[in-house]
Amino acid sequence: MLRKNTSRSSPAFLALKLLILWIVIAPTPTSAAYYLTKVENHPVKISIRMTLQSSIHVHKLAPRGVEWGLASQVSRPRCNGKPLKQNAEGEWVSPAGCKEIYWTVDLPDIVNNDYLASTQQSIHLPKPGWSLLSEPSSLLRVKGDKSASFIKSADPSIRLIGAKKLTGDTWKIPSESSAPEFFVINTSNVNRVQLNGLDVNYISDNTDLVERLQLNDMHAKVLGALSDILKLKSKLENRRESVLVVWIGIDKRLRGINGAAGHRSFVANYIIDDDPNESINRYRAMMVIAHEQFHQLVDMTRTRNNSLPNWVSESLAQYYALHVLAKIAGSPETQRIKSEFIKPDADYKLGLLELDRKNQAGDRSLYHLFYEQGATFWQAIDETLRESKEFPDGLDSVINDLLSMDFPKNGSLPPDFIGKIRHADEKRLDDILNKYIGT
Ligand SMILES: [Zn+2]
Repeated sequence: MLRKNTSRSSPAFLALKLLILWIVIAPTPTSAAYYLTKVENHPVKISIRMTLQSSIHVHKLAPRGVEWGLASQVSRPRCNGKPLKQNAEGEWVSPAGCKEIYWTVDLPDIVNNDYLASTQQSIHLPKPGWSLLSEPSSLLRVKGDKSASFIKSADPSIRLIGAKKLTGDTWKIPSESSAPEFFVINTSNVNRVQLNGLDVNYISDNTDLVERLQLNDMHAKVLGALSDILKLKSKLENRRESVLVVWIGIDKRLRGINGAAGHRSFVANYIIDDDPNESINRYRAMMVIAHEQFHQLVDMTRTRNNSLPNWVSESLAQYYALHVLAKIAGSPETQRIKSEFIKPDADYKLGLLELDRKNQAGDRSLYHLFYEQGATFWQAIDETLRESKEFPDGLDSVINDLLSMDFPKNGSLPPDFIGKIRHADEKRLDDILNKYIGT
């Protein structure tokens, strides 16, 4: 009987069951694509459409910055006109069969020069008349989907500028394992130059002031010095790379030394100050760009290894920022800035590995020690190596070896690296490793 054939044990039923199981546990689908569909001026908001390549599954969606503690700027996401169910703060669910998701991003007007780049928020700057789109706070991603994708403007009146161009007018959205990206909407003022084998695009909120403060020149010098140390040209070979630098002024009362490094873009605050005696502010801006630029060049060239532990990434970026600052513009002001971070006499309570573990567990209160204790550690290593016969160029002579190595899971330095530098002065290096890194 037909009825008997459809019993629970029939092959057809099993196949169906397996299919259902496959649908539920299928690996997450491939990338989404993003389209800017509308930019409104009052209030300033942009609309975004995301297409999902595989739509048969239920997906969890969130802007990836939420996990890092950033505020989500995704507003009213919907599919087929229906609002998506919200799971948690900054997390939604798209139903099975949903192929396109729409949402808006409200862009707060920044009128008092009080935007801190480290907040990584999308904003509108009424004065120059352009907007910053921050991918980690404003673009939904399918959770678990690690692939890179692209964004493009779907409206000829919206001009989108990113860091890495794919084809035509599409810009790369980095994969989940890469740093975030920033985009500028509707500026007509892009300064394009070729530096050290890189295409660099500069955008600023105040072209005259940025010119007067010589910020682009400073960036070019920093990029030159870091490219030399990191042997950028030979590592890139013929690969074409580009960088987007976005300058946003901040009121001097906020004293914001602030930046946000993206995959190929970065946003840097500079202190708005016309007082020529306050040249220290320019050097502070220079330190920030050097720090962010270091992250970016490492990301660009360290393509075959696991990611650096947080403490290593931040402490090296900070040490090299101070290092190139002294190299390019050595002065009492740069010495003063250096002494704010390098503190060989400080009594550090916790080792860098312990700090890294605390940070990973969500305690950000000691993060600043990666810049201080961490940079002081590298300074001690640099000095020791410089004083040896084997490494007269100090840390510069081993940094590229270090950056070509995989790091152990526990966040410590690779044993091969330690083995190499110990030749310089075993006792002194062991003391430094014990004092700053710990276990
Ligand atoms: Zn950093």
